[in-house]
Amino acid sequence: MKNIIFIAPPAAGKGTQSELLIENYNYIHISTGDLLREKQNENSELGNKIKHLLAKGLLVDDDIITKLLREKLTSISSPFILDGYPRNLNQASILDKILEELNLTVDVVIYLNVDSDTAMKRALGRISCPNCNRIYNKYIKEKMPKVEGICDCCNVSLVSRSDDNEESFKERFATYIENTKPLLDYYDNKGKLVIINKVDTPNETFEEVKKVID
Ligand SMILES: [Zn+2]
Repeated sequence: MKNIIFIAPPAAGKGTQSELLIENYNYIHISTGDLLREKQNENSELGNKIKHLLAKGLLVDDDIITKLLREKLTSISSPFILDGYPRNLNQASILDKILEELNLTVDVVIYLNVDSDTAMKRALGRISCPNCNRIYNKYIKEKMPKVEGICDCCNVSLVSRSDDNEESFKERFATYIENTKPLLDYYDNKGKLVIINKVDTPNETFEEVKKVID
């Protein structure tokens, strides 16, 4: 099996694809967000430092992330999916160093290529039932409730949890694309980048992901 880096813009479905990979293959999911959250519960100097930074919404510096990532990569024995890291070229070169030290490689970098409009509909259309937590989407036909704004099962009003409006989402999306371009070029030059363009449904996307892995 191949070690994977997953890169995708907001609302591209990366979370779902990661879950499918973990369910269907024996992958270890490594997310730097999870590593930080786990570490902050440890009663150690580093744990307390992370807790403080996260509580204040401050950026955690690369040295700390590097340390956590090295620890995690040292402790695992099956193939991994790296999710949410690297985010920029500096982190990519840090990762290269760690992998080299540990005699590991990343085999493929998968990018889910969703367009801004599709991503926006997914993100902003997402509504859920406060009672049963079922998720609907007011823009996507297959995911619409039978009666607008009402849960099919519970007959209660659906709620939206998005902090974004159209404008803020599009801006966030555009910034992501701009910032990520150098990273994609970096892995493309190494011959490791695979771009998946079929991202309409999770199953369709997963078929493409499987082709890359098998
Ligand atoms: Zn419900």
